[in-house]
Amino acid sequence: MSTPKPRTLPASEDPLISRRGFVGATGVLLAARELAGDDRVNAQSAVPHTSIERFSERESLRAAKAVVKMAQKTILRISREVWNKPAVGLREQEAMEVHIRELEAAGFTMVSRNSGGHPTAFVAQWSQGSGGPKLGFLPEYDALPGLGNAAEPLVKPADNGLTDGHGCGHNCLGAGCTGAAITLKAMMVQRNVAGTLRVYGCGAEENVGAKIFMAKAGLFDDLDAALAWHPAAVPVTGTFVTNANHFMRVSWKGRTAHAGMDPWSGRSALDAAELFAHGVNLMREHLEPTARLHYIYEIAGVAPNVVPDEARIWIQARDITTPRVNAITDWLAQLAEGAALGTQTTATFQVELGMAEYIPNETLAERVFEHLQHTPLDWTAEEQAFAQACQKAMGANEAGLATQVAPMIQDAKFGASSDVADVSWNTPVAVFGWPTYPLGVNLHTWGVTACGGTSIGDKGSLAAAAILAAVGYELLTEPELRTKAKEELTRRLDGRKYQAVQNMDLQEMREVSARCQKGMADEYVSGVDTN
Ligand SMILES: [Zn+2]
Repeated sequence: MSTPKPRTLPASEDPLISRRGFVGATGVLLAARELAGDDRVNAQSAVPHTSIERFSERESLRAAKAVVKMAQKTILRISREVWNKPAVGLREQEAMEVHIRELEAAGFTMVSRNSGGHPTAFVAQWSQGSGGPKLGFLPEYDALPGLGNAAEPLVKPADNGLTDGHGCGHNCLGAGCTGAAITLKAMMVQRNVAGTLRVYGCGAEENVGAKIFMAKAGLFDDLDAALAWHPAAVPVTGTFVTNANHFMRVSWKGRTAHAGMDPWSGRSALDAAELFAHGVNLMREHLEPTARLHYIYEIAGVAPNVVPDEARIWIQARDITTPRVNAITDWLAQLAEGAALGTQTTATFQVELGMAEYIPNETLAERVFEHLQHTPLDWTAEEQAFAQACQKAMGANEAGLATQVAPMIQDAKFGASSDVADVSWNTPVAVFGWPTYPLGVNLHTWGVTACGGTSIGDKGSLAAAAILAAVGYELLTEPELRTKAKEELTRRLDGRKYQAVQNMDLQEMREVSARCQKGMADEYVSGVDTN
């Protein structure tokens, strides 16, 4: 079998790659979003799907496609049921149970529920032979508030009356990942290949990411590789870095008083919060240009005639490396204390949750990139018309659905963060984007929900399942590919050790979930990505 070198574009050749300002959940899909929305890429830079004949399709992908056909009903049942049971993170038990039911029916056994102490995480496993490699799959299944929509190309409430919806396409994502595990199991049985397949139910990706909890518990430590994909507007993969981040809660306690009669008896916690926020904005000048700081006031008093005795700020810090985020965090803690001193209040500073920066794996990305080019984008006229109707309704260019693979991303840095990063420190990760919604449309919008409930989303789940199963098969049967991917991870880590940042109890997790349900709905509806 030939092993062609996939076509790549160095970053310098592509003006998009070095652009900043990506927002979203997973780096690769962010790139897809940006690339999809940019006519230069659609017109010039993408890899024409018809030009792939110069590479031969690997046998593993051909075999995976055939098995996916047999598993099609199962895969699409998962996607559709999860689409019909949308719920935000930590409330998505029903969606989780769909995955567990199908995995058990396919012969997987449950290793754990509440994995890593996360209420909507699970681990299921299937093994054959002894001493074989271990691969992980990362399905997600949580929805977003306010994005419930019918499977129609216009803003229309879902038939089930639910206001949550799969505006990030996690119904397709989950079906593709779990479907890939089921597909690969069938291939291993057919061909008597030894190995262990482990499916990690990655609950609450949008608000309290389960991967961090499972990484903290060491559940990815013994894997040879992990495989994932995300719905996108174009097929895309490559090497990229998502930011490390910390979610912090800072609260102050003061003393209440009548704001008119004896304000001198009170000590305002809100004053402390305002002083802190001012300090944050002064800090910005002295941080690296890659740093990001964003905060909201969660508690800021109840009435202007009462001196607030309680205030709370929820702040997030991001930068391209964990040490940089740690340094910003230390400074913020000093600022919180300084604000308390200056207002005679007391401060509490807590780092609740954090994500590492993503460690890309070019070895696996190159393999994935090959498969992307051998996977058809065969949309029907109806699907293209549906996509164009969505685009029209959303004010996007009526370019329809992607028909080309995006150039391989090389060493791009994104502003956003992803909990897939916490897996990537512990095992090599292969990840890519595959279209389930129209060009120029953003994730976290009703259009993604709508398309995910149609054959457009279905084709994405099936294509992703085949690509993931093919890469999985190659990892199981090509020891040199595993070794090369692991060596690359070791080289990129350069002695650094993973340290999970997860200090939330169940009550705090539920508070975040409730806040996301209520307070973030408007932002999601507007298409602003808040992850
Ligand atoms: Zn997502």
